[in-house]
Amino acid sequence: MNISHHFDDATLMAYSAGSLPQGMALLVACHLHWCEHCRERVDATNAVGGVLLDDIEPVSLGEGALNDLLARLDEPEQELAKPVSRPSASAGQLPAPLAELVGCDIDELPWKRIGYGVRQVDLDLDGPGATRLLRISPGVSVPHHTHTGNELTLILSGSYNDEVGRFCRGDVADLDGEMEHQPLVDTDEDCICLIATDAPLKFTGLFGRLVQPFIGL
Ligand SMILES: [Zn+2]
Repeated sequence: MNISHHFDDATLMAYSAGSLPQGMALLVACHLHWCEHCRERVDATNAVGGVLLDDIEPVSLGEGALNDLLARLDEPEQELAKPVSRPSASAGQLPAPLAELVGCDIDELPWKRIGYGVRQVDLDLDGPGATRLLRISPGVSVPHHTHTGNELTLILSGSYNDEVGRFCRGDVADLDGEMEHQPLVDTDEDCICLIATDAPLKFTGLFGRLVQPFIGL
């Protein structure tokens, strides 16, 4: 796989620290499954984190700290992903963490039409923001939008062009609230992306403002 767009350092550090919302962490794990370059960067980030921990001066803990910690160990573990329902036929097509989550072929998912040439599946994960699969038909462009928070996109198949460049299978777009963009599918194949945000999108064009209340992106 020829990957040319990767995550920001800040995103990988947040991933290593375990501070990303569930959907974003899933998306990072999916890219890491395909991208050796970012796997090495995560290893380096973890090494730096370890050195920083070694340098921290020990502080004395308050009374009851040990009991609090032991009590927390008894709490049920937070579920990171929904249980696997059955092995997927599209395991080779989807990155493993996503294939395990959806448990079926990408064409068998309950795609919902949300506008001209655009279909989506909401993955309905817990936490702030939204995580969805978007399937965009050839020649269709998603309305201009900016973000109130961060948006991560992983291209699963097909490709698109926007103000940043061309994005193909395996590439990620790592956008913050400053960025305004309008992706256009530029081949004769559907572009299927995994998109995770930590806050709702904000459409800027007139068309976007008109459709936003209906498509709930
Ligand atoms: Zn990468």
